[in-house]
Amino acid sequence: MNTERETILIVDDSRLQRSVFRKMLQPRFRVLEAESGEECIQILRERGNQVHAVLLDLVMPGMDGFQVLEQRRELDFFMNIPVIILTSGNSKAMQIRAFELGANDFLNKPGEEAIVLSRLQNVLESGRRFRALVEQRNQMRYRAELDEMTGLLNKMTARQLIQKHLESMPEESVALFIVDIDNFKAINDIHGHEMGDHTIRIMANILSSCFRKSDIVGRLGGDEFCVLMKNIPSRQEVRRRAEKLLQMIRKHENQTLPENITISIGISYSSPECRLEELLSEADQALYLSKKAGKDCYTEYGCGCCQDGSIQCRSRALLLSRTRSVISTLHYSCSSYYKLSVVETVAELETQLREDPEGVSRIFLDVSAEEGDGLQVWSAVTGKEWAKRQPLVAICREGDIPQLRTALDTGLIADLYFAPVNDQFVDRRLRGYMKEKAQQVML
Ligand code: GH3
Ligand code: MG
Repeated sequence: MNTERETILIVDDSRLQRSVFRKMLQPRFRVLEAESGEECIQILRERGNQVHAVLLDLVMPGMDGFQVLEQRRELDFFMNIPVIILTSGNSKAMQIRAFELGANDFLNKPGEEAIVLSRLQNVLESGRRFRALVEQRNQMRYRAELDEMTGLLNKMTARQLIQKHLESMPEESVALFIVDIDNFKAINDIHGHEMGDHTIRIMANILSSCFRKSDIVGRLGGDEFCVLMKNIPSRQEVRRRAEKLLQMIRKHENQTLPENITISIGISYSSPECRLEELLSEADQALYLSKKAGKDCYTEYGCGCCQDGSIQCRSRALLLSRTRSVISTLHYSCSSYYKLSVVETVAELETQLREDPEGVSRIFLDVSAEEGDGLQVWSAVTGKEWAKRQPLVAICREGDIPQLRTALDTGLIADLYFAPVNDQFVDRRLRGYMKEKAQQVML
Protein backbone atom coordinates (compact mmCIF):
# COMPACT_ATOMS: atom_id res chain seq x y z
CA MET A 1 0.00 0.00 0.00
CA ASN A 2 2.73 2.43 1.00
CA THR A 3 4.22 2.49 -2.48
CA GLU A 4 0.89 3.75 -3.90
CA ARG A 5 0.82 6.76 -1.65
CA GLU A 6 1.32 10.17 -3.17
CA THR A 7 4.48 12.00 -2.21
CA ILE A 8 4.58 15.52 -0.80
CA LEU A 9 7.76 17.56 -0.61
CA ILE A 10 7.90 20.05 2.29
CA VAL A 11 10.31 22.91 1.72
CA ASP A 12 10.95 25.06 4.78
CA ASP A 13 14.11 26.26 6.49
CA SER A 14 12.51 25.79 9.90
CA ARG A 15 12.91 22.23 11.16
CA LEU A 16 10.05 22.81 13.57
CA GLN A 17 7.66 23.81 10.76
CA ARG A 18 8.73 20.83 8.66
CA SER A 19 8.03 18.48 11.50
CA VAL A 20 4.59 20.06 12.17
CA PHE A 21 3.58 19.46 8.54
CA ARG A 22 5.27 16.03 8.44
CA LYS A 23 3.15 14.87 11.40
CA MET A 24 -0.03 16.00 9.65
CA LEU A 25 0.81 14.41 6.34
CA GLN A 26 2.56 11.20 7.28
CA PRO A 27 -0.57 9.14 7.97
CA ARG A 28 -1.71 9.62 4.37
CA PHE A 29 1.29 10.55 2.25
CA ARG A 30 4.92 9.82 1.72
CA VAL A 31 6.81 12.88 2.89
CA LEU A 32 10.08 14.31 1.66
CA GLU A 33 11.78 17.34 3.16
CA ALA A 34 14.07 20.07 1.91
CA GLU A 35 15.46 22.87 4.03
CA SER A 36 16.18 25.31 1.20
CA GLY A 37 15.13 26.33 -2.30
CA GLU A 38 18.30 24.82 -3.72
CA GLU A 39 17.65 21.48 -2.06
CA CYS A 40 14.06 21.53 -3.34
CA ILE A 41 15.21 21.91 -6.96
CA GLN A 42 17.86 19.24 -6.43
CA ILE A 43 15.35 16.69 -5.09
CA LEU A 44 12.91 17.38 -7.91
CA ARG A 45 15.67 17.13 -10.52
CA GLU A 46 16.48 13.64 -9.20
CA ARG A 47 12.98 12.33 -8.47
CA GLY A 48 10.48 14.90 -9.74
CA ASN A 49 8.37 12.21 -11.35
CA GLN A 50 7.70 10.72 -7.91
CA VAL A 51 6.57 13.97 -6.26
CA HIS A 52 2.89 14.94 -6.45
CA ALA A 53 2.81 18.29 -4.67
CA VAL A 54 5.17 20.76 -3.02
CA LEU A 55 4.52 22.80 0.13
CA LEU A 56 6.84 25.77 -0.28
CA ASP A 57 7.88 28.33 2.32
CA LEU A 58 8.31 31.80 0.84
CA VAL A 59 10.86 33.31 3.19
CA MET A 60 14.09 31.28 3.36
CA PRO A 61 17.76 32.18 3.40
CA GLY A 62 19.48 31.69 0.03
CA MET A 63 17.04 30.82 -2.70
CA ASP A 64 13.61 31.87 -1.39
CA GLY A 65 10.17 30.63 -2.40
CA PHE A 66 9.69 33.30 -5.06
CA GLN A 67 12.96 32.34 -6.75
CA VAL A 68 11.91 28.67 -6.66
CA LEU A 69 8.64 29.60 -8.39
CA GLU A 70 10.56 31.63 -10.97
CA GLN A 71 12.85 28.71 -11.75
CA ARG A 72 9.88 26.31 -11.88
CA ARG A 73 8.63 27.99 -15.05
CA GLU A 74 11.78 26.90 -16.87
CA LEU A 75 12.02 23.37 -15.48
CA ASP A 76 10.05 20.65 -17.30
CA PHE A 77 10.29 18.23 -14.39
CA PHE A 78 8.76 20.81 -12.03
CA MET A 79 6.24 22.67 -14.17
CA ASN A 80 3.37 20.21 -13.69
CA ILE A 81 3.83 19.59 -9.98
CA PRO A 82 1.35 21.73 -8.02
CA VAL A 83 2.80 24.10 -5.43
CA ILE A 84 1.09 25.35 -2.29
CA ILE A 85 2.92 28.25 -0.74
CA LEU A 86 3.26 28.62 3.03
CA THR A 87 2.85 32.13 4.36
CA SER A 88 3.03 33.58 7.84
CA GLY A 89 0.48 36.26 8.44
CA ASN A 90 -1.82 37.51 5.77
CA SER A 91 0.37 39.39 3.36
CA LYS A 92 -1.95 39.77 0.40
CA ALA A 93 0.79 41.30 -1.74
CA MET A 94 2.96 38.22 -1.22
CA GLN A 95 0.11 35.89 -2.05
CA ILE A 96 -0.71 37.77 -5.23
CA ARG A 97 2.94 37.78 -6.28
CA ALA A 98 3.12 34.02 -5.66
CA PHE A 99 -0.04 33.44 -7.73
CA GLU A 100 1.44 35.56 -10.52
CA LEU A 101 4.44 33.25 -10.46
CA GLY A 102 2.18 30.22 -10.84
CA ALA A 103 1.52 28.98 -7.28
CA ASN A 104 -1.60 26.83 -7.11
CA ASP A 105 -2.79 27.73 -3.63
CA PHE A 106 -1.55 29.04 -0.30
CA LEU A 107 -1.73 28.10 3.36
CA ASN A 108 -1.14 30.19 6.45
CA LYS A 109 1.37 28.78 8.90
CA PRO A 110 1.40 26.99 11.24
CA GLY A 111 -1.50 25.29 9.43
CA GLU A 112 -4.64 23.64 10.73
CA GLU A 113 -4.72 19.96 9.90
CA ALA A 114 -8.20 19.79 8.33
CA ILE A 115 -7.52 22.80 6.12
CA VAL A 116 -4.04 21.65 5.12
CA LEU A 117 -5.38 18.22 4.13
CA SER A 118 -8.36 19.48 2.20
CA ARG A 119 -6.38 22.11 0.27
CA LEU A 120 -3.80 19.48 -0.53
CA GLN A 121 -6.51 17.10 -1.69
CA ASN A 122 -7.80 19.82 -4.00
CA VAL A 123 -4.52 20.37 -5.80
CA LEU A 124 -3.82 16.64 -5.85
CA GLU A 125 -7.27 15.95 -7.29
CA SER A 126 -6.71 18.23 -10.25
CA GLY A 127 -3.34 16.55 -10.79
CA ARG A 128 -4.95 13.10 -10.58
CA ARG A 129 -7.64 14.02 -13.05
CA PHE A 130 -5.12 15.49 -15.38
CA ARG A 131 -2.95 12.36 -15.20
CA ALA A 132 -5.95 10.05 -15.58
CA LEU A 133 -7.11 11.88 -18.69
CA VAL A 134 -3.63 11.97 -20.12
CA GLU A 135 -3.18 8.28 -19.45
CA GLN A 136 -6.57 7.39 -20.92
CA ARG A 137 -5.66 9.03 -24.16
CA ASN A 138 -1.92 8.79 -24.15
CA GLN A 139 -2.00 8.02 -27.84
CA MET A 140 -3.56 11.37 -28.58
CA ARG A 141 -2.11 14.83 -28.48
CA TYR A 142 -3.59 15.78 -25.14
CA ARG A 143 -2.47 19.36 -25.33
CA ALA A 144 -4.97 19.84 -28.12
CA GLU A 145 -7.75 18.21 -26.10
CA LEU A 146 -7.42 19.61 -22.62
CA ASP A 147 -7.80 23.08 -21.28
CA GLU A 148 -4.35 23.94 -20.06
CA MET A 149 -5.45 26.17 -17.22
CA THR A 150 -7.84 23.71 -15.56
CA GLY A 151 -6.98 20.25 -16.87
CA LEU A 152 -10.64 19.86 -17.94
CA LEU A 153 -11.63 19.02 -21.50
CA ASN A 154 -11.44 22.06 -23.74
CA LYS A 155 -14.43 23.30 -25.69
CA MET A 156 -13.69 21.41 -28.87
CA THR A 157 -13.11 18.06 -27.14
CA ALA A 158 -16.09 18.44 -24.82
CA ARG A 159 -18.32 19.12 -27.82
CA GLN A 160 -16.92 16.14 -29.71
CA LEU A 161 -17.39 13.77 -26.77
CA ILE A 162 -20.93 14.99 -26.10
CA GLN A 163 -21.80 14.63 -29.77
CA LYS A 164 -20.37 11.13 -29.82
CA HIS A 165 -22.33 10.18 -26.73
CA LEU A 166 -25.62 11.50 -28.17
CA GLU A 167 -25.01 9.54 -31.36
CA SER A 168 -24.02 6.30 -29.69
CA MET A 169 -26.82 6.39 -27.05
CA PRO A 170 -29.71 8.16 -28.83
CA GLU A 171 -32.34 6.88 -26.37
CA GLU A 172 -30.49 7.62 -23.16
CA SER A 173 -31.76 10.51 -21.03
CA VAL A 174 -29.03 13.07 -20.45
CA ALA A 175 -28.90 16.57 -18.99
CA LEU A 176 -26.58 19.32 -20.13
CA PHE A 177 -25.46 22.01 -17.68
CA ILE A 178 -23.91 25.29 -18.71
CA VAL A 179 -22.34 26.94 -15.70
CA ASP A 180 -21.15 30.55 -15.64
CA ILE A 181 -19.48 32.43 -12.79
CA ASP A 182 -21.49 35.45 -11.70
CA ASN A 183 -19.87 38.88 -11.97
CA PHE A 184 -16.54 37.42 -12.88
CA LYS A 185 -15.34 40.66 -14.44
CA ALA A 186 -15.60 42.25 -10.99
CA ILE A 187 -13.47 39.44 -9.49
CA ASN A 188 -10.78 40.25 -12.05
CA ASP A 189 -11.11 43.96 -11.40
CA ILE A 190 -11.07 43.79 -7.60
CA HIS A 191 -8.70 40.89 -6.90
CA GLY A 192 -6.57 40.87 -10.06
CA HIS A 193 -6.37 38.62 -13.09
CA GLU A 194 -4.25 36.03 -11.28
CA MET A 195 -6.92 35.55 -8.63
CA GLY A 196 -9.39 35.33 -11.53
CA ASP A 197 -7.38 32.47 -13.05
CA HIS A 198 -7.10 30.79 -9.66
CA THR A 199 -10.89 31.06 -9.25
CA ILE A 200 -11.40 29.37 -12.61
CA ARG A 201 -9.10 26.51 -11.56
CA ILE A 202 -10.86 26.00 -8.22
CA MET A 203 -14.21 26.14 -10.00
CA ALA A 204 -13.00 23.36 -12.30
CA ASN A 205 -12.04 21.23 -9.27
CA ILE A 206 -15.40 21.76 -7.59
CA LEU A 207 -17.25 20.90 -10.80
CA SER A 208 -15.24 17.72 -11.27
CA SER A 209 -15.88 16.63 -7.72
CA CYS A 210 -19.62 17.29 -7.95
CA PHE A 211 -20.25 14.94 -10.88
CA ARG A 212 -19.52 11.31 -11.67
CA LYS A 213 -16.21 10.44 -13.30
CA SER A 214 -18.11 9.17 -16.33
CA ASP A 215 -19.85 12.53 -16.90
CA ILE A 216 -18.28 14.94 -19.38
CA VAL A 217 -16.92 18.10 -17.78
CA GLY A 218 -15.37 20.81 -19.95
CA ARG A 219 -14.45 24.47 -20.03
CA LEU A 220 -16.20 26.29 -22.83
CA GLY A 221 -13.97 29.35 -22.39
CA GLY A 222 -13.58 32.30 -20.02
CA ASP A 223 -15.71 31.68 -16.94
CA GLU A 224 -18.08 29.25 -18.65
CA PHE A 225 -18.18 25.47 -18.20
CA CYS A 226 -20.33 22.61 -19.42
CA VAL A 227 -21.25 19.24 -17.93
CA LEU A 228 -23.06 16.39 -19.61
CA MET A 229 -24.77 14.22 -16.98
CA LYS A 230 -25.13 10.84 -18.62
CA ASN A 231 -27.91 8.36 -18.05
CA ILE A 232 -29.88 10.46 -15.56
CA PRO A 233 -32.19 8.50 -13.28
CA SER A 234 -34.69 11.40 -12.96
CA ARG A 235 -34.99 15.14 -13.26
CA GLN A 236 -35.23 15.22 -9.52
CA GLU A 237 -31.68 13.94 -9.33
CA VAL A 238 -30.51 16.58 -11.81
CA ARG A 239 -32.13 19.31 -9.73
CA ARG A 240 -30.50 17.93 -6.58
CA ARG A 241 -27.12 18.05 -8.31
CA ALA A 242 -27.67 21.64 -9.45
CA GLU A 243 -28.63 22.67 -5.90
CA LYS A 244 -25.59 20.92 -4.49
CA LEU A 245 -23.28 22.69 -6.92
CA LEU A 246 -24.76 26.09 -6.10
CA GLN A 247 -24.28 25.32 -2.39
CA MET A 248 -20.70 24.15 -2.81
CA ILE A 249 -19.79 27.40 -4.56
CA ARG A 250 -21.64 29.60 -2.07
CA LYS A 251 -19.97 27.91 0.89
CA HIS A 252 -16.62 27.08 -0.77
CA GLU A 253 -15.36 25.59 2.48
CA ASN A 254 -11.59 25.35 2.69
CA GLN A 255 -11.15 26.94 -0.70
CA THR A 256 -9.43 30.21 -1.40
CA LEU A 257 -12.17 31.86 -3.40
CA PRO A 258 -13.44 35.43 -3.31
CA GLU A 259 -16.18 36.05 -0.75
CA ASN A 260 -19.76 36.02 -2.04
CA ILE A 261 -18.85 34.12 -5.17
CA THR A 262 -21.81 32.51 -6.94
CA ILE A 263 -22.61 30.82 -10.22
CA SER A 264 -25.61 30.57 -12.51
CA ILE A 265 -26.68 27.37 -14.25
CA GLY A 266 -28.74 26.59 -17.35
CA ILE A 267 -29.97 23.02 -17.85
CA SER A 268 -31.39 21.31 -20.92
CA TYR A 269 -32.63 17.75 -21.30
CA SER A 270 -32.23 15.42 -24.24
CA SER A 271 -35.07 14.10 -26.32
CA PRO A 272 -34.47 10.97 -28.40
CA GLU A 273 -32.06 11.73 -31.25
CA CYS A 274 -31.67 15.36 -30.29
CA ARG A 275 -28.69 17.24 -31.65
CA LEU A 276 -25.81 18.81 -29.78
CA GLU A 277 -26.54 22.32 -31.07
CA GLU A 278 -30.11 22.09 -29.86
CA LEU A 279 -29.04 20.93 -26.41
CA LEU A 280 -26.40 23.66 -26.09
CA SER A 281 -28.70 26.39 -27.29
CA GLU A 282 -31.46 25.32 -24.87
CA ALA A 283 -29.06 25.21 -21.91
CA ASP A 284 -27.74 28.60 -22.97
CA GLN A 285 -31.23 30.10 -23.05
CA ALA A 286 -31.90 28.63 -19.61
CA LEU A 287 -28.63 30.14 -18.32
CA TYR A 288 -29.72 33.51 -19.67
CA LEU A 289 -32.94 33.19 -17.66
CA SER A 290 -30.96 32.37 -14.50
CA LYS A 291 -28.89 35.53 -14.97
CA LYS A 292 -32.03 37.54 -15.60
CA ALA A 293 -33.73 36.09 -12.53
CA GLY A 294 -30.98 37.52 -10.31
CA LYS A 295 -28.14 34.92 -10.65
CA ASP A 296 -27.05 32.29 -8.06
CA CYS A 297 -29.74 29.88 -9.30
CA TYR A 298 -30.48 27.26 -11.93
CA THR A 299 -33.11 27.20 -14.65
CA GLU A 300 -34.26 24.22 -16.67
CA TYR A 301 -35.05 24.92 -20.29
CA GLY A 302 -38.81 25.46 -20.72
CA CYS A 303 -39.18 26.02 -16.99
CA GLY A 304 -42.64 27.09 -15.94
CA CYS A 305 -41.57 28.40 -12.58
CA CYS A 306 -39.38 31.38 -13.29
CA GLN A 307 -40.80 34.84 -13.06
CA ASP A 308 -39.12 36.65 -15.86
CA GLY A 309 -42.15 36.98 -18.06
CA SER A 310 -40.72 35.18 -21.08
CA ILE A 311 -43.17 33.35 -23.29
CA GLN A 312 -42.37 29.88 -22.00
CA CYS A 313 -42.48 31.00 -18.43
CA ARG A 314 -45.93 32.50 -18.43
CA SER A 315 -47.74 29.47 -19.83
CA ARG A 316 -50.55 27.89 -17.93
CA ALA A 317 -52.31 24.64 -18.62
CA LEU A 318 -55.60 23.22 -17.34
CA LEU A 319 -56.26 19.57 -16.67
CA LEU A 320 -59.76 18.20 -16.34
CA SER A 321 -59.38 14.87 -14.59
CA ARG A 322 -60.44 12.75 -11.64
CA THR A 323 -57.89 10.04 -12.16
CA ARG A 324 -55.19 10.21 -9.53
CA SER A 325 -52.45 8.59 -11.63
CA VAL A 326 -53.09 10.95 -14.57
CA ILE A 327 -53.10 13.99 -12.28
CA SER A 328 -49.82 13.05 -10.59
CA THR A 329 -48.05 12.20 -13.86
CA LEU A 330 -49.16 15.41 -15.54
CA HIS A 331 -48.22 17.45 -12.46
CA TYR A 332 -44.75 15.98 -12.44
CA SER A 333 -44.11 16.24 -16.18
CA CYS A 334 -45.67 19.67 -16.62
CA SER A 335 -43.74 21.29 -13.79
CA SER A 336 -40.92 22.23 -16.17
CA TYR A 337 -43.19 23.68 -18.83
CA TYR A 338 -46.51 24.89 -17.45
CA LYS A 339 -48.18 26.02 -14.31
CA LEU A 340 -50.86 23.33 -14.16
CA SER A 341 -54.32 23.76 -12.57
CA VAL A 342 -56.55 20.74 -12.10
CA VAL A 343 -60.35 20.94 -12.34
CA GLU A 344 -63.05 18.28 -12.05
CA THR A 345 -65.84 19.60 -14.25
CA VAL A 346 -66.26 21.44 -17.54
CA ALA A 347 -68.04 24.23 -15.64
CA GLU A 348 -64.99 24.75 -13.40
CA LEU A 349 -62.78 24.72 -16.47
CA GLU A 350 -64.84 27.47 -18.05
CA THR A 351 -64.63 29.57 -14.88
CA GLN A 352 -60.84 29.33 -14.95
CA LEU A 353 -60.79 30.30 -18.61
CA ARG A 354 -63.00 33.32 -18.00
CA GLU A 355 -60.67 34.50 -15.23
CA ASP A 356 -57.56 34.22 -17.36
CA PRO A 357 -58.54 33.95 -21.03
CA GLU A 358 -55.08 34.79 -22.46
CA GLY A 359 -52.96 32.93 -19.91
CA VAL A 360 -53.97 29.35 -20.71
CA SER A 361 -52.06 27.76 -23.55
CA ARG A 362 -53.14 24.11 -23.37
CA ILE A 363 -56.04 22.08 -22.02
CA PHE A 364 -55.89 18.40 -21.14
CA LEU A 365 -59.24 16.60 -21.08
CA ASP A 366 -59.06 13.24 -19.38
CA VAL A 367 -61.95 10.80 -19.84
CA SER A 368 -59.93 7.74 -19.01
CA ALA A 369 -61.45 7.16 -15.55
CA GLU A 370 -63.03 3.82 -14.89
CA GLU A 371 -66.30 5.28 -13.63
CA GLY A 372 -68.48 6.66 -16.46
CA ASP A 373 -67.55 6.51 -20.11
CA GLY A 374 -66.56 10.19 -20.26
CA LEU A 375 -68.54 10.82 -23.42
CA GLN A 376 -70.51 13.62 -21.75
CA VAL A 377 -67.30 15.68 -21.56
CA TRP A 378 -67.07 15.77 -25.35
CA SER A 379 -70.65 16.86 -25.79
CA ALA A 380 -70.12 19.66 -23.23
CA VAL A 381 -67.07 20.85 -25.16
CA THR A 382 -68.42 20.62 -28.71
CA GLY A 383 -69.41 23.95 -30.19
CA LYS A 384 -67.65 26.02 -27.51
CA GLU A 385 -65.64 28.99 -28.81
CA TRP A 386 -62.86 28.54 -26.25
CA ALA A 387 -62.45 24.91 -27.35
CA LYS A 388 -61.75 26.07 -30.91
CA ARG A 389 -59.09 28.56 -29.74
CA GLN A 390 -57.14 26.29 -27.36
CA PRO A 391 -55.12 23.22 -28.34
CA LEU A 392 -56.97 20.33 -26.66
CA VAL A 393 -55.28 17.11 -25.62
CA ALA A 394 -57.60 14.12 -25.16
CA ILE A 395 -56.62 11.45 -22.65
CA CYS A 396 -58.61 8.25 -23.30
CA ARG A 397 -58.51 4.74 -21.96
CA GLU A 398 -56.50 2.52 -24.27
CA GLY A 399 -58.81 0.20 -26.24
CA ASP A 400 -61.98 2.19 -25.51
CA ILE A 401 -63.12 2.74 -29.09
CA PRO A 402 -66.34 4.77 -28.35
CA GLN A 403 -64.29 7.19 -26.23
CA LEU A 404 -61.71 7.58 -28.96
CA ARG A 405 -64.19 7.93 -31.77
CA THR A 406 -66.26 10.56 -29.93
CA ALA A 407 -63.16 12.55 -29.06
CA LEU A 408 -61.94 12.56 -32.66
CA ASP A 409 -65.41 13.33 -34.02
CA THR A 410 -65.42 16.68 -32.21
CA GLY A 411 -62.72 17.81 -34.67
CA LEU A 412 -61.14 19.79 -31.79
CA ILE A 413 -58.42 17.41 -30.67
CA ALA A 414 -54.84 18.56 -31.24
CA ASP A 415 -53.24 15.52 -29.60
CA LEU A 416 -54.22 12.22 -28.02
CA TYR A 417 -52.71 10.33 -25.08
CA PHE A 418 -53.63 6.82 -24.02
CA ALA A 419 -54.00 6.12 -20.31
CA PRO A 420 -52.17 4.90 -18.35
CA VAL A 421 -49.84 7.80 -19.22
CA ASN A 422 -46.16 7.67 -18.32
CA ASP A 423 -44.02 10.65 -17.51
CA GLN A 424 -41.38 10.07 -20.18
CA PHE A 425 -44.01 9.92 -22.89
CA VAL A 426 -45.72 13.07 -21.63
CA ASP A 427 -42.40 14.85 -21.31
CA ARG A 428 -41.52 14.10 -24.95
CA ARG A 429 -44.87 15.46 -26.12
CA LEU A 430 -44.51 18.62 -24.04
CA ARG A 431 -41.06 19.25 -25.45
CA GLY A 432 -42.55 18.91 -28.91
CA TYR A 433 -45.16 21.59 -28.13
CA MET A 434 -42.45 23.90 -26.84
CA LYS A 435 -40.46 23.49 -30.02
CA GLU A 436 -43.49 24.23 -32.18
CA LYS A 437 -44.18 27.30 -30.13
CA ALA A 438 -40.57 28.52 -30.38
CA GLN A 439 -40.74 28.10 -34.15
CA GLN A 440 -43.98 30.04 -34.32
CA VAL A 441 -42.44 32.83 -32.26
CA MET A 442 -39.44 32.96 -34.56
CA LEU A 443 -41.62 33.10 -37.67
P1 GH3 B 1 -22.26 37.57 -15.53
O1 GH3 B 1 -22.61 37.50 -14.09
O2 GH3 B 1 -23.35 38.13 -16.35
O3 GH3 B 1 -21.73 36.30 -16.09
O4 GH3 B 1 -21.10 38.65 -15.60
P2 GH3 B 1 -19.55 38.42 -15.74
O5 GH3 B 1 -18.88 39.61 -15.14
O6 GH3 B 1 -19.14 37.10 -15.22
O7 GH3 B 1 -19.42 38.52 -17.29
P3 GH3 B 1 -19.00 37.45 -18.36
O8 GH3 B 1 -19.27 36.08 -17.90
O9 GH3 B 1 -19.60 37.87 -19.64
O10 GH3 B 1 -17.47 37.79 -18.48
C1 GH3 B 1 -16.45 36.92 -18.29
C2 GH3 B 1 -15.17 37.70 -18.12
O11 GH3 B 1 -14.14 36.76 -17.83
C3 GH3 B 1 -14.69 38.41 -19.37
C4 GH3 B 1 -13.19 38.34 -19.30
O12 GH3 B 1 -12.69 39.57 -18.89
C5 GH3 B 1 -12.89 37.33 -18.22
N1 GH3 B 1 -12.05 36.21 -18.63
C6 GH3 B 1 -12.21 35.42 -19.72
N2 GH3 B 1 -11.27 34.45 -19.75
C7 GH3 B 1 -10.50 34.61 -18.64
C8 GH3 B 1 -9.36 33.92 -18.10
O13 GH3 B 1 -8.86 32.93 -18.63
N3 GH3 B 1 -8.86 34.39 -16.92
C9 GH3 B 1 -9.38 35.47 -16.29
N4 GH3 B 1 -8.82 35.86 -15.13
N5 GH3 B 1 -10.42 36.16 -16.77
C10 GH3 B 1 -10.99 35.73 -17.93
MG1 MG C 1 -19.84 35.25 -15.94
